[in-house]
Amino acid sequence: QRDFNQTIDYVFKVVLIGDSAVGKSQLLARFARNEFNIDSKATIGVEFQTKTLLIDHKTVKAQVWDTAGQERYQAVSSAYYRGAVGAMLVYDITKRESFDHVARWLEELRGLADKNIVMMLVGNKSDLASLRAVPIEDAKEFAQRENLFFMETSALEATNVESAFLTILTQIYRIIG
Ligand code: GDP
Ligand code: MG
Repeated sequence: QRDFNQTIDYVFKVVLIGDSAVGKSQLLARFARNEFNIDSKATIGVEFQTKTLLIDHKTVKAQVWDTAGQERYQAVSSAYYRGAVGAMLVYDITKRESFDHVARWLEELRGLADKNIVMMLVGNKSDLASLRAVPIEDAKEFAQRENLFFMETSALEATNVESAFLTILTQIYRIIG
């Protein structure tokens, strides 16, 4: 973590949304601390984690917000979205329902978040290829239609996690920076 004495040029708030158990917390653990826990519990009391990285020679602090389990009751509040410049809509490639619900999450996002928010669709658990229930083409098509960036990831195997965050942060930087 490159977070010592340097000046921070930008702080970007990014929110994670999507159904419960799709892997939001593990994606964040992988990105922020390069960790993964098989038995992940909803993190209590921690609202966000940060990671500082360099984009185009600027120091960008990503402040990534994770739900504390409220998504189970569709009770993510407007405060969660306040000030967010990026959103990752996560589904589980082995759970069709979690993909079908993305449209609902998108609607909430469009209702509560800033209209210029950069959005990325993330199909997590790509390591479970034999259990795949969402064809990658369906997700690509949906993302294209809705104007979202798209990537499949595995928090478990650390596939595309850094890349997904870097993509969304770079797009935010292009808009704001
Ligand atoms: P959240 O409710 O969306 O925050 O989901 P969690 O991050 O708590 O993960 C839910 C479950 O999925 C946990 O048992 C994780 O170990 C598991 N999980 C998360 N990411 C992955 C992944 O990339 N691959 C696999 N195989 N399991 C994952
Ligand atoms: Mg969680």
